[in-house]
Amino acid sequence: MDENATRSLPPVHLHSPQNRVKKRTHPLVLWSLLAAVAFLLGACAEIDTHRGVRNTSRTFNTVVLDAGHGAHDSGARTRKGTLEKDLALDVALRVAPKLRAAGFNTILTRKRDVFVTLDDRVRISDRYENAVFVSVHFNDAGRKQVSGVESYYFSPESKRMAERMVRVLSATTGAENRNARIARFRVLRTAQNPAVLMECGYITTTREAALIVQPAYREKIAEGLARGIIEQRGGPLLSESKL
Ligand SMILES: [Zn+2]
Repeated sequence: MDENATRSLPPVHLHSPQNRVKKRTHPLVLWSLLAAVAFLLGACAEIDTHRGVRNTSRTFNTVVLDAGHGAHDSGARTRKGTLEKDLALDVALRVAPKLRAAGFNTILTRKRDVFVTLDDRVRISDRYENAVFVSVHFNDAGRKQVSGVESYYFSPESKRMAERMVRVLSATTGAENRNARIARFRVLRTAQNPAVLMECGYITTTREAALIVQPAYREKIAEGLARGIIEQRGGPLLSESKL
């Protein structure tokens, strides 16, 4: 705001007749105020005390796969113009059948190039009680030539899964393991299920982008993600013979 504008406002008439008359506040107004304060305190407490995340990280039978971005939200882009939203969707679509083959109920937050709000992505995941949420992204380092894979988590219930998934993804693809990191990303902070956000490589880095645009390399990424999830659960839900 322009400071001068504030200064030029007319002075407040502290001694105007209305202000001198002490009006009794209606009890209803008081109650409404109290209710509003209680509501706000409740909302804050919910955020601060970390709303009990269901610890399903070793028991889950549903995986909610979230392809990052979509529609007008393109995410990062390679120097040649390939968009993160398309790469993320392609990888999520490759992971899904592998998890289904292993016996997991597998849900995609988007199957096409559509926009889904962050809250809706979490809402989809929260519908399932025995689930984990895995968001698929590619990273942006601007002009820096950084490469490698990272995972992000927020709740303690998600930490082990984030660590395992980035380790397995690195081992499967050969990309550098840049480790699991804690982050206050909205989808991680608000999810009621263990939630991990995977950064599957830097698409702004020429050498890594050249790999990521190849379908065969994205298939490796998908294998790495699926393996990490399956290992986190302690193996496939179906017997090997059914795979
Ligand atoms: Zn992204």
